[in-house]
Amino acid sequence: MGEKLKIAGIIEESIVDGPGIRFVIFAQGCVHSCIGCHNPQTHSFSKGYYMDVDEILDMVMEDPLLDGITISGGEPFHQGHVCALLAKKVKDIGLNVITYTGYTFEEILNEIDINIGWRELLSVTDILIDGKFEIDKKNLLLRFRGSENQRIIDVKKSLDVKKTIEIDII
Ligand code: SF4
Repeated sequence: MGEKLKIAGIIEESIVDGPGIRFVIFAQGCVHSCIGCHNPQTHSFSKGYYMDVDEILDMVMEDPLLDGITISGGEPFHQGHVCALLAKKVKDIGLNVITYTGYTFEEILNEIDINIGWRELLSVTDILIDGKFEIDKKNLLLRFRGSENQRIIDVKKSLDVKKTIEIDII
């Protein structure tokens, strides 16, 4: 038996969780308590169910139409190590990885050495969509985000130049 991820659910093909056709995994458990959160069923750490990383990978590999996976939540960084294992395997088969988080990119960088798996997950994330959902900044016109504080970040470029680099996904 391999490592297991605790999830709230899966969407096998989505076009609203990042560019292209994406396999979406909703991690179970979130501490952020954003008012107006669209996925309140993902907050509890005692709910959800476990899936083996390789079982999820098999599902991803069965679909030749996928561009990548999106790890959403819940808060993926609470299970950073296991999310990173899955993301690494997905990248190894040529797909890309988007990770949503309620933390800001800067918060993650500040605490990267004291939280298990954070560095691992960041290192295999191509695009990070960061920040809590802030209802007073809600904007229905934004792509792949709910509120204007949330950013779409090119992780590799940002780490290379040591500055947060946002990207415009069309
Ligand atoms: S971080 Fe995401 S899942 Fe968690 S409360 Fe905020 S919007 Fe909901």
